[in-house]
Amino acid sequence: MLKIQVNINIILFTLIFYFLYAFNGFSQDELYRVNTIVIDPGHGGKDPGALSQYGKEKDVVLAIGLKLRKYIEDSLPDVNVIMTRNKDVFVELYRRAKIANENKADLFISIHANSNKSSSPRGSETYVMGLHKTEANLAVAKKENQVILQESNYQQEYDGFDPNSPEGNIIFSLYQNAYLTQSLQMADLIQKHFRRNRMLIDRGVKQAGFLVLWKTAMPSLLVEAGFISNKIDGKYLTSSQGQDSIALAIFQAFREYKNTIESQAIEDNKQQKETKVNFNKGLIFSIQILTTKKNIPLQPENFHKFTDIYKKKYNDWIKYYIGAVSDFDAITDKYKIVKKYYKDAFVVAFNNGEKISIREAKKIEKKSGKK
Ligand SMILES: [Zn+2]
Repeated sequence: MLKIQVNINIILFTLIFYFLYAFNGFSQDELYRVNTIVIDPGHGGKDPGALSQYGKEKDVVLAIGLKLRKYIEDSLPDVNVIMTRNKDVFVELYRRAKIANENKADLFISIHANSNKSSSPRGSETYVMGLHKTEANLAVAKKENQVILQESNYQQEYDGFDPNSPEGNIIFSLYQNAYLTQSLQMADLIQKHFRRNRMLIDRGVKQAGFLVLWKTAMPSLLVEAGFISNKIDGKYLTSSQGQDSIALAIFQAFREYKNTIESQAIEDNKQQKETKVNFNKGLIFSIQILTTKKNIPLQPENFHKFTDIYKKKYNDWIKYYIGAVSDFDAITDKYKIVKKYYKDAFVVAFNNGEKISIREAKKIEKKSGKK
């Protein structure tokens, strides 16, 4: 009975968090920027993490984290870098997420090293929060979650979560990740840059329920940089050169992520302004010329020298238009010219931003007394 109660609590908590954060995402009006990153070197202090003859996980991940910080600070001085630990100290998992939330971080990266009873597995993988697809992925999360047993108040801090219970692990990993898209985007980039490093084997992007990622309110991921239990990985992870290469790959991924997210935000903002001015107020006739997933800059040279070009985003698709007038006769005249360049073009109408039929539009035009 108590167990069921605990599970229900976890589900409720999960839902509340999901709704809180799902609707607390990027504001449409302000330009989104990746300004603050939290680097979380796993383990520390009394918790050494994975151990092998080559070294300790806690030392490896701290070295990588500090090198990553240096790369970011040197190359992207406008980014605020926060470490959950910058020395060999124990930090509770919940506190790591709290540091990220309190600093309103835009990205959270937890750095770890993997280990296995067998010395043969090697390679790097990046996790985002979600339900594991294989027992092996679950095992990685369970291993990283075990540390809460060393925390004094763990039952309270993690809503009764028992890291040894398989059932608990499953329920908890069903947690909906409001930032899944961005988390996956960054995870893909990390693996992409790892692939370019010939010393690392790409094990891909995976999902599992990591407690440290549970309550972070921003795109978050956990990197398992390599297997400290494997001879090649173990030596690489514990060497200064290996740590440096891993930090560099994560840095390159971060720089690319930041550029992508920010240019997308600028583009979205521009598009919004364009459509706000031209389509969202009153009755508008226009000519739809193209629907594509390609983002074409609204420059006359891209549109047969037409200057009054507009675009509107519909999910993955972008629709391109020429002309924006409130008079049907005017758009008909324009259409005759546009049709010469875009043979599939057709006239469309919007009323306060909403697409309506031409018949409806003409009715509205008539009512307004223009015709
Ligand atoms: Zn770890």
